[in-house]
Amino acid sequence: MAQSAKGELNYRCPMCLKRDLDLDLAYDKDKKEYYCYRCAFHGTEKDVLRLNEQFKEKYGRLKERVVDFGEDNEPPKFKPHKAGEQ
Ligand SMILES: [Zn+2]
Repeated sequence: MAQSAKGELNYRCPMCLKRDLDLDLAYDKDKKEYYCYRCAFHGTEKDVLRLNEQFKEKYGRLKERVVDFGEDNEPPKFKPHKAGEQ
């Protein structure tokens, strides 16, 4: 393993994030990929960004509330949520 360094951007480990752990990835300049100190994750910047998109599905609607679940084959309707509202 080459000398570890931070990448240009500070990415979080997507695998650890799934387990609610917040760890920065290190960057291997020779292999041009990011890797995690804690778990076995390693991948290119593209891999990290793709996995981060999957993570957004879990919390992507955090600031919205369902107003109407609709019929079985209709998508639910959402409204933006403001802090302090129920
Ligand atoms: Zn990790």
